[in-house]
Amino acid sequence: MAKRRFRYNPQTLSFEPIMVPVFKKLTNLTIQFGLSLIIAVIVFFSYTYFFDTPKEKILKRNNTETLVKFELLAKQIEISDKLLTEIQLRDNNIYRAIFDADIIPASLRTGGIGGATHYTEFENFINSNLLIDIASKLDQVTWKTYIQSKSFDEVIGLAKNKEQMIISIPAIQPISVKDFGRISDSFGNRRDPFTRQTRFHHGIDFAGTKGSPVYATGNGSIISAEFSFFGYGNVILVDHGFGYKTRYAHLESIAVNPGDSVTRGQVIGTLGNSGRSTGPHLHYEVIYRNRVVDPMNYFNDMTTEEYERMVSNVTPMD
Ligand SMILES: [Zn+2]
Repeated sequence: MAKRRFRYNPQTLSFEPIMVPVFKKLTNLTIQFGLSLIIAVIVFFSYTYFFDTPKEKILKRNNTETLVKFELLAKQIEISDKLLTEIQLRDNNIYRAIFDADIIPASLRTGGIGGATHYTEFENFINSNLLIDIASKLDQVTWKTYIQSKSFDEVIGLAKNKEQMIISIPAIQPISVKDFGRISDSFGNRRDPFTRQTRFHHGIDFAGTKGSPVYATGNGSIISAEFSFFGYGNVILVDHGFGYKTRYAHLESIAVNPGDSVTRGQVIGTLGNSGRSTGPHLHYEVIYRNRVVDPMNYFNDMTTEEYERMVSNVTPMD
């Protein structure tokens, strides 16, 4: 309620109320209201310019939180990528190596992913670089994981095959120790007993008694069992799978036919002197992925003494 104002009248010696016209009252009120409004607007804009509104404060806090979360995510992806790289190294150098599987080249493991052009949807943001970096790293980790998973599938398959592999890969001597005195010729370059020229010897020669049993050195199937006109004489070729084959030459007799399955230690023929040979012996070859390798590395049942006795006094016989 508005206060009433009084004026002292010296003539009547009393206070008399001041009468203000209604129009003036209204004008005063309007001016006061207008001024208040202007001041309020100025105060409001000054405040919002220098200070955040509560809503802005919440949004800013949310933005900071989101940014921190993204940076954390980027670090976690980086850690995952490092762990994955270690698994890849173990996979190539240990798991795949155990099973003689080819290593997976780095170019396939990292794939053709990347390049900013893949991530145009993340452009034009304040934190575009961070977003593109995260998306690109995440894509790489996803691809690497996919390739690694495929590799493990393959390794699991190979592991299941391992038992078969163990019994198939050549691992014993093709004739019994008691049936031969020595290895008359080892693998590699030596003087040919016929031509006296240096010639590569593709296998090992076991000098022994004619008619001694010759054994398959691992499980497999007979590829061929025949007389060869190319010097081998009676010769058997066995396929052991897993990239391995063995050849047994100069046999006196053959006890198997092409297509037969054989097991390690099974008699497949007898030691002889057929073909291009200077005396009774078994010429034995191990072939891995179509290349001859030194059979000495495939005698798991030989002691050091036996080995030293066998390789003494070498005399080429074919
Ligand atoms: Zn030979």
